[in-house]
Amino acid sequence: MKTLTTFPRISEFEKAVEILKTGKYPYLEIHPYPYYSKVGVSSLATTLEGRSAIQENQTVITSGWIDYRPIESQIPKNKPNDFAEDLFGNAAIMVLSVCVADENKIRLIAHISGNLSPAFPYMNSEMPQAAFNIDGPTFFYMDQYRMITLYSNRIAVAKADDLLDGWRILEKIRCTANEIWARRSMITPSSELRKKPPALEIYFRLPRTNCRQCEEKTCMALALKLWTGNAQPGACKPIFTGEYQHLKDAFLQVCHGLGYFAGDSTDD
Ligand code: SF4
Repeated sequence: MKTLTTFPRISEFEKAVEILKTGKYPYLEIHPYPYYSKVGVSSLATTLEGRSAIQENQTVITSGWIDYRPIESQIPKNKPNDFAEDLFGNAAIMVLSVCVADENKIRLIAHISGNLSPAFPYMNSEMPQAAFNIDGPTFFYMDQYRMITLYSNRIAVAKADDLLDGWRILEKIRCTANEIWARRSMITPSSELRKKPPALEIYFRLPRTNCRQCEEKTCMALALKLWTGNAQPGACKPIFTGEYQHLKDAFLQVCHGLGYFAGDSTDD
């Protein structure tokens, strides 16, 4: 198998399977159930010839094509969680392509049948490293290196590992938004506009000596970890206890914009 696609609807998947069967092209079905059944549609891996047969038929709507790589992770065997109030509904990936920033990753845009925007002010309170823009409304955050932007009824994910990782992220968003929404009576909603400084802004406030005292290979690696919330500002020893303490105030200022506060400046 060389190439992989998913579909906006199961009926499109079924049409594509018929074309491959009729033309006797080899194919592999990849199903999202049970655990990702609310966020995924059955998908197909096939050969380049099989892909051409589907595309030339012109009656099948696909979400896009990416290179097929065997997927190593497993879909959890349990059913997806149910929520008494479900803001998310179901999702379908409408756009699937190689990530512009990294050709080994994928990007996707999914449409959802629900509306996430009522949960954004509560998510904004609970997720201090996210960037919320109430005028969009949009809600941006990182899941490790993956970049996630939530709109009312649309989700954009960049730098997902593969299709299964995309489904996993969508399911996680579904659960997170609904769980926070279920607890909303205990959360003070926040419409604070947080614009996250870009990772380069953090990098420019580091000593940029690549001394590795933070146990990262480069200052840029630490900047990216800080940006994604996977490190503490105090990891850069030269700024706090060494010869670069003159950078401390400006560095802490930019870290504050990421949601780090004074007590976060040490990693002990
Ligand atoms: S400790 Fe600071 S200066 Fe050294 S590599 Fe890490 S970020 Fe760069």
